[in-house]
Amino acid sequence: MSSDPEAADWTLPTEFLERLARILGDVRSDVIEQSFFEPKAAAFRVNRLLAAPDETCRELLGDGLSLEPLGWLPDGFFVPADQRSMLTRHRLVDLGHIYIHNPSSMLAALVLAPQPGETVMDLAAAPGGKTLHLAALMGEVGFLSAVEPILARFYKLKENLRRGGAAFVRTYQLDGRRVPAKTGPRFDRVLLDAPCSGEARFHVSDPDSFRNWSLRKIRQCRSKQSGLIQAGFASLKPGGRMLYCTCSFAPEENEAVVASLVQEQRSCHLLEIELPIENWQAGLTAWEGLTFPESVRLCRRVLPNDLHDALFLALIEKSPE
Ligand code: SAM
Repeated sequence: MSSDPEAADWTLPTEFLERLARILGDVRSDVIEQSFFEPKAAAFRVNRLLAAPDETCRELLGDGLSLEPLGWLPDGFFVPADQRSMLTRHRLVDLGHIYIHNPSSMLAALVLAPQPGETVMDLAAAPGGKTLHLAALMGEVGFLSAVEPILARFYKLKENLRRGGAAFVRTYQLDGRRVPAKTGPRFDRVLLDAPCSGEARFHVSDPDSFRNWSLRKIRQCRSKQSGLIQAGFASLKPGGRMLYCTCSFAPEENEAVVASLVQEQRSCHLLEIELPIENWQAGLTAWEGLTFPESVRLCRRVLPNDLHDALFLALIEKSPE
């Protein structure tokens, strides 16, 4: 986050806040509102491709960091907000032994649960935090592909994978919507962490995070997300699973995108998602005059707090033949 000297004068767009109140309904709370104003704890995952959690934690503790385990992920820890810059500047980040990302981001690979030996694709991969997590869960056994169309971000992805010791990942600079035409339905698991309006990253200390927010942008994102989710689904083999996630609250980018796929594809089913945290809300079945299939309730919206960013998750299965 930038430290804008005028940050205290900034506030989030009124229309965004009004929509948020309608999305959250009864679960709206001060904790959620505070999450846009207060600094968050900084979390990281020990990268088992290169390091062991015990040894890594000893080194960080020895350097004065106050670590807390996430509790639900053996490799996940966090430090208080005032130690964020100490953590981000730590040499273990440069060595690729730890990867700093929000605990909500760590849920994505965990819920998709790729198995060693499977054929897996990360369809919108840069900068690669979730690709690295998938690689660690697969223990580098199997096939993992990572797709990213934007050149600068593609290089960042490659650099992060190199630093994280994930040389077995194959990288492709490509629009994800073109993937099924090239691969056919061959993947056991697909992660689609879709490009989105980024509402979960809004913070008053960083006006750039929300300066360009608009309903028009949400509609543009939805259009791209619909193309990508169709491509992800077409790339799955029968019985395969895709995790769709965004860091937006907007139902247009979440429930509506998932509902269209469920309605268009008879072989598409939503699966129950077991989350190891309590701050979540079920998917909405109605929004601004639209209604979605009842199964969309199985989606999950992680609610932000002093540790978690918001994240929307939908676990999708293609029926076995
Ligand atoms: N999963 C990543 C991680 O955890 O590090 C973050 C992914 S970010 C939310 C979405 C990514 O999708 C961005 O890097 C963006 O450049 C990329 N993207 C944008 N348009 C795309 C497209 N047509 N196909 C595939 N990826 C796309």
